[in-house]
Amino acid sequence: MAKIFDLCPSIVQPLLSGDGYLIRIRPKYGYLNSRQLMSLGKAANQFGNGVIEFTTRANITIRGINEKKLNDLSHFLKNEKIVNQLDTNKTVSNIIYSPFLRLNDKKFPRISKIIEDQLASIPKIHKKFGIAIDLGRLATLQNIHADIRIEEASNGSLIIRIDGLEYGEEVEQNNLIPSLKNITNNIAKAVPFHLKDKNLSEIIQHIDYKKFHIPLKKPRKQEFRPRLGPCFQGYLLSSISGRFTGDQVIQLSFQVENVKVTPWKALFIENTLRKPKLNFLSKNTDFSLKISHCSGQPYCKQGLIDTSKVADKINKRLKSSYKKNVINIPNIHISGCEKNCGIPKNVSISISKFKKDNPIEVVNGEHKELADLLTLELQ
Ligand code: SF4
Repeated sequence: MAKIFDLCPSIVQPLLSGDGYLIRIRPKYGYLNSRQLMSLGKAANQFGNGVIEFTTRANITIRGINEKKLNDLSHFLKNEKIVNQLDTNKTVSNIIYSPFLRLNDKKFPRISKIIEDQLASIPKIHKKFGIAIDLGRLATLQNIHADIRIEEASNGSLIIRIDGLEYGEEVEQNNLIPSLKNITNNIAKAVPFHLKDKNLSEIIQHIDYKKFHIPLKKPRKQEFRPRLGPCFQGYLLSSISGRFTGDQVIQLSFQVENVKVTPWKALFIENTLRKPKLNFLSKNTDFSLKISHCSGQPYCKQGLIDTSKVADKINKRLKSSYKKNVINIPNIHISGCEKNCGIPKNVSISISKFKKDNPIEVVNGEHKELADLLTLELQ
């Protein structure tokens, strides 16, 4: 019987939420082929309430699961090889892959395989510990939460960069896991007790990391901004807020060979410049990649507002305010309560509509005009 916990949902740690139990899974290699996509849709319909969410850590949430069906769902997902068989509550649950491969790229798949095959030997420093594998055509994951970044330096060499540091340490492919273990084990030993649950970007400011880590290589340019539509010989698509029904996922599976699960609550389809003809998919003119929100009402028990309704209003506002200026668009996050779950890294406007004081907060001093407008409109 799967154990039932109240924090950090995973395949072995379901979380009781407003609509039943939920589990969060990490697709192996951040990838689903069409058969697995269809199985995911069937799993949501058969074991849950038919709601699937793609998250900002490139995980997949299946919602509304009856307690008695938890074990069967876990077996089903493992049998369908959607998750890595080595995944447990002790392994790293956030491994995020850049979705854009180079043509004939051998290095990226090889490194992904090393990580997946040796999952059990990678230390997990805190419960949300994450690794971004930011290889491929260009660096894309700079604004995604991760503690360790496996990247390319500007000269093409492989580096391990601790989040928060400007430079990374050069590493050979065959030494990747020992180097990762060396860095993480040393950090785990050095971390002060009061920082035990913090991200490495914070921990690293308080320890003498140069004793065990030599970061001398600058990563390549980090300027990617995701947008829905055609990109890199493929297509980035989503539905509103990255939330799909099981039936929609099944329909999608008939039209694609595979999907990469990205950390922008969006899916990337390789080798096509056309959007599948499915009317539930967001329009390319939508701003859904700029607006994030937590589950909120009615999905989360603690939720004080329906965050998806607020997101929908804001999407409409951005469409009318930013028709021509698509570069300088702020990232906006909506929280359903004080807990602020799943807040992305580069948010400019944070909306906590349940608060009486300061419900719309400008995080970095920019976009005050838009924040003032939203304050009026969301009253
Ligand atoms: S921020 Fe609050 S409402 Fe939103 S998911 Fe977290 S606990 Fe639920």
